[in-house]
Amino acid sequence: MDTRILSGKAVSSAVYKSLEPRIESLIAKKIKPGLAVIIAGDNPASKVYVRSKTKKFASLGLHSETIYFPVSVSESEILSQIESLNKDDQFHGILVQLPLPRHIQSEIVLNALDPSKDVDGFHPLNLGNLTAGIPTFIPCTPKGIMRIMSYYKINLSGKHVVVVGRSNIVGRPISILTSLKQKFSNATVTICHSGTQNISDYTLQADVVILALGYPEFLTGKDIKDGAVIIDVGINRIEDNSDKGYKLVGDGKASSLDGKASAYTPVPGGVGPMTIAMLVENTIEAAERTL
Ligand code: NDP
Repeated sequence: MDTRILSGKAVSSAVYKSLEPRIESLIAKKIKPGLAVIIAGDNPASKVYVRSKTKKFASLGLHSETIYFPVSVSESEILSQIESLNKDDQFHGILVQLPLPRHIQSEIVLNALDPSKDVDGFHPLNLGNLTAGIPTFIPCTPKGIMRIMSYYKINLSGKHVVVVGRSNIVGRPISILTSLKQKFSNATVTICHSGTQNISDYTLQADVVILALGYPEFLTGKDIKDGAVIIDVGINRIEDNSDKGYKLVGDGKASSLDGKASAYTPVPGGVGPMTIAMLVENTIEAAERTL
């Protein structure tokens, strides 16, 4: 079987193209979409993600600022920063880079965001709207996955989707989105997690497997049925002999999915670029809401 590569790079390029006239129209009205990013602690992966987000904003002529806090920051310091950003008109979106240091309760911090600036879609109000199928800010990675589906015309209606992972950031929201009675969704959804026995019993029945567990090359060709579609969210570093000393791999073993799956998203270049594209799109939407 020919296996199609679902390129998130291609889809994200199309997204950026579609955003150009919206950005121009906002700039013409003297509104420069702006994003504030709060990052606390020294997590190297978080720093890399934040740098690539702000770089993308700069390349599109958008405004972004990063507020760094040391790992010792108190919850009240973050909350007062959020309070001032909520009132600051130059920022249409506010993103709190997760994970926060362990002594900070992320639910309290996310709850403090003005829901109309919550471009990551993690405020309980936005998550509630998502669950009810009400238009809202949708978390960027799950939204990006749905955009890949629509771009490649993969209609989930009537299909069995198996999601591996149930985090609030990816697994849980994508399981809800794929099951909504909406265009390109309407799937029957199974969620697997670390408490699931024999995960391959489920993935073998899936028309679409969405991997979001963070376990390198967890899923192989023998765990899926012929022609399944694999969406691989995982980004895992494994050591190798390259100059960098590591390479990035997904939660699926790409070489063994080739010829067995009908399509899959590569790592890197699959879901990753979509996450940033959806953050830009959500920020532009937030700026448009102020018109
Ligand atoms: P979390 O660690 O928050 O959640 C992982 C989920 O997978 C949990 O629900 C956990 O179960 C489950 N899980 C872990 N190990 C296993 C296992 N062996 N078998 C079955 N289930 C398991 O991770 P995230 O959701 O934040 O991220 C998942 C992956 O996606 C990571 O590799 C991350 O780097 C990547 N990622 C990529 C993004 C992108 O833009 N491409 C964006 C966000 C994340 P339990 O609930 O029981 O603990």
